[in-house]
Amino acid sequence: MTTDIGQYINGARVPGTTDRFQDVTCPATGEVTGRVALGSAADVDAAVSAAKAAFPDWADTPPLRRARIMNRFLALLNERKEDLARAITNEHGKVFTDACGEVERGIDIVEFACGIPQLLKGDYTEQVSRGMDNWTLRQPIGVCAGITPFNFPAMVPMWMFPVAIACGNTFVLKPSPTDPSASLMIADLMKEAGFPDGVFNVVQGDKAAVDALLAHPDVKAVSFVGSTPIANYIYETGARNGKRVQALGGAKNHMLVMPDADMDKAVDALVGAAFGSAGERCMAISVALLVGDAAEQVIPKLVERAKALVIKNGLELDAEMGPIVTKAALERITGYIEKGVAEGADLLVDGRGNSVEGHEGGFWLGGTLFDNVTPEMTIYLEEIFGPVLSCVRVKDFAEGLQLINDHEFGNGVSVFTRDGNVAREFGRRVEVGMVGVNVPIPVPMAWHGFGGWKRSLFGDMHAYGEEGVRFYTKQKSIMQRWPESIEKGAEFTMPVSK
Ligand code: NAD
Repeated sequence: MTTDIGQYINGARVPGTTDRFQDVTCPATGEVTGRVALGSAADVDAAVSAAKAAFPDWADTPPLRRARIMNRFLALLNERKEDLARAITNEHGKVFTDACGEVERGIDIVEFACGIPQLLKGDYTEQVSRGMDNWTLRQPIGVCAGITPFNFPAMVPMWMFPVAIACGNTFVLKPSPTDPSASLMIADLMKEAGFPDGVFNVVQGDKAAVDALLAHPDVKAVSFVGSTPIANYIYETGARNGKRVQALGGAKNHMLVMPDADMDKAVDALVGAAFGSAGERCMAISVALLVGDAAEQVIPKLVERAKALVIKNGLELDAEMGPIVTKAALERITGYIEKGVAEGADLLVDGRGNSVEGHEGGFWLGGTLFDNVTPEMTIYLEEIFGPVLSCVRVKDFAEGLQLINDHEFGNGVSVFTRDGNVAREFGRRVEVGMVGVNVPIPVPMAWHGFGGWKRSLFGDMHAYGEEGVRFYTKQKSIMQRWPESIEKGAEFTMPVSK
């Protein structure tokens, strides 16, 4: 039995106006479980109109009262997080425990947003001139849109809307049509928590819905997370249309393993970060830079571990890796493996042809390991977004650092070492937005903000944290004095402090 997955506009689930649909598939079985309505410009307009109508009253609601509703949402999320995680596993394929982790990291941002009264406190200077004070405050900007990728259907939307809404904005989410159910479950919880109708809306869809959001004059800000070519397009188009835009793109995250590292821990980290969520994370490690004789120690262990991965339907609790999200993604990743072989890399573990008993229709691929990958190869240059780890041998720290800094992406990076000075130099010199020292996936906590450098982020504000608060608010400066302190007579010179 399949279900129809529609829009969420002005406090209710609605089918919308569209006559275009896309199948939603369970990647572990290959079965179609539903079809999602691909929203039209009319659906986008309905959602934006609802959000625009809800804005004035929501913006006027005291931050403390907004935070109280956010707190109820937080409690509901904590109560229902396993339902949400199960829905994610069914449509995305990631293992259930990983889906629980995704929801948990999203919940962190909701918890952060509950502190909005403190975060919106302005600055005040008394007596900037005699009898005159000056203060700054931050006000919401209006209707904000979020366009999100398939790989974190709950967490990435939660990087955006809790902060935007806590700041007093209203929101239209356009999630990935690949795994759309989580967005509607979240919308239901928002309603149950007590957010007024129109504050949070969901329009499902593809490019047509995105383009309608980018063109809509009432959308004031756009947050995007997805691949680099689309991030670039969203940034340019949104900016041309006068919107504030933050667009987070793709990645090719390296881990530099120094010869003094604890090799067992480095191998654990590489296996988890390369093959966890089948490599479909923007913070996945896809390149291991092995310095000097680290390669001799690490590679045999990696071979053993890649072959031993427990690959199953993600709903089974002992699964370490689930299926690839779609058949098309599986074919794309397989194409990269073929290219790696053709360009001369050594394929040490080949995940192609993997199948899981009882789930033969699923989109399966085993962990794949390449050695002797060089910087000109396609598998080094491009984002594969699958369980494929490329090992590159380098002679020293400087060569490894140069490779990282020369790469077009700069999302996440990691160094494994026991040397404090190496760690410090790495942190200072590396041209990447998020750095781990003996931490493979350094996704910043809710109050620190998430964002890459170079072609991993277009715009200047990172997602969530205080950067998120700045992105979703406008600063206003007010100077004030009272008639008693105004000197008589017109002033024709630039006013200065007196
Ligand atoms: P994607 O770029 O294909 O899609 C992202 C969003 O854009 C979706 O909502 C999609 O419907 C929409 N979209 C797709 N094509 C479009 C087009 N031509 N015009 C307008 N909108 C379009 O990305 P994906 O495959 O869903 O997700 C994987 C990608 O996201 C990877 O590149 C990954 O690195 C990246 N990602 C980045 C981060 C980060 O924080 N930097 C986080 C998660 C994922």
